[in-house]
Amino acid sequence: MSGSKPIIPYGKQEISDQDVQALVEAVRSEYLTQGPGVDSFEKAICKQVGAPHAIAVTNGTAALHLCAMALGVKPGVRVLVPAITFAASANCILYCGGDVEFVDIDPNTLCLDFGHLEKLLASHPRGYYSGVVSVDMTGYPVNLSQLRKIADAHGLWILEDACHAIGARYQDESGEWHHSGDGRHADASIYSFHPVKHITTGEGGVVTTANASLAAKIKKLRTHGITKNPAEYENANDGGWYHEMQDLGYNYRISDILCKLGESQLSRLDENLKRRREIASTYRRELEGLPLQLPQAPNSVEHAYHLFVIRTDRRKELYEHLKQAHIYTQVHYIPVYRHPYYQRRYGKMSLPQADRYYEQTLSLPMYHSMTDQEQRRVIDAIRSFYN
Ligand SMILES: *Cc1c(COP(=O)(O)O)cnc(C)c1O
Repeated sequence: MSGSKPIIPYGKQEISDQDVQALVEAVRSEYLTQGPGVDSFEKAICKQVGAPHAIAVTNGTAALHLCAMALGVKPGVRVLVPAITFAASANCILYCGGDVEFVDIDPNTLCLDFGHLEKLLASHPRGYYSGVVSVDMTGYPVNLSQLRKIADAHGLWILEDACHAIGARYQDESGEWHHSGDGRHADASIYSFHPVKHITTGEGGVVTTANASLAAKIKKLRTHGITKNPAEYENANDGGWYHEMQDLGYNYRISDILCKLGESQLSRLDENLKRRREIASTYRRELEGLPLQLPQAPNSVEHAYHLFVIRTDRRKELYEHLKQAHIYTQVHYIPVYRHPYYQRRYGKMSLPQADRYYEQTLSLPMYHSMTDQEQRRVIDAIRSFYN
């Protein structure tokens, strides 16, 4: 029976022969870190998302941290963050000594609720908040053109956490399409290459931006805050060996080896996205009519489907039922303010949409290498739960 069937996880990586070949060549090459593979991967990312600059780093959290630093987060700075996201989207602000304030989510997009955002902004003088972190939750690309207008009216920067949304696009009010992460509306965007994400380097991340000076700052912070560019020196150039540490940076460099794996993975992104969208449309077709809510994807967005999130009042029972059938679903996410660290820091709080979402949400298996048979098992198990 189902008890002996192999486990279907909610997400997993796919490593091809081409990826293995790229890795073998990488470890045999002259450069193991900071070689031509890093540049080449960064250029490939720029091309993919349409951003002028990309800076590859050790992981998505490091990318968030460097962005927060470069955007000037420091003690006294307040930043608005959606309540439903991975904790790192908020933690990066605290790393720099800043504070976060949580914004409720829009139940249709599962991203920032612009209405609640504007309400918070209107109840404080200009300058009270410095920036906003926007998360393309589940792969739903936030309409950053609209968010830019709100941000500009209040003097905020936008940091886009696009970890779920590589390859996603949205249409602005004039009908023009934009890639998430293209740097057109957000000041900086970040991606993660953790194995559950669309493309993986094991651990890895990248910042994309259209702002050249922000890119230069982040590049310097990635490697201890050290520059070897004589044009940037503050003191006299003592000779060929000379370099300067100008800021307190970190070692957040990603290796050449991993970048070559990343570039190989990235070459299949478009076909992987196609497969994810196919899986999503099969779920929609097969789950239609059951007493559960399916994710929204209006015509003005091209969803990247990092996750396929359903909502049901019988979430815990369904989770257990599927687990019995060796189908491992997951919950994305516990509202960040419910974590004990945040409760100790800011006190217990509640936002109505975020709390309601948390009670009902379940992420069904969604990964581009999922077979039709695996998806059939998931669908049949959900149907048998409701029948
Ligand atoms: C995965 C993820 C991160 C963190 O990325 P890491 O590479 O694991 O550090 C941050 N934000 C979101 C929304 C994520 O999904």
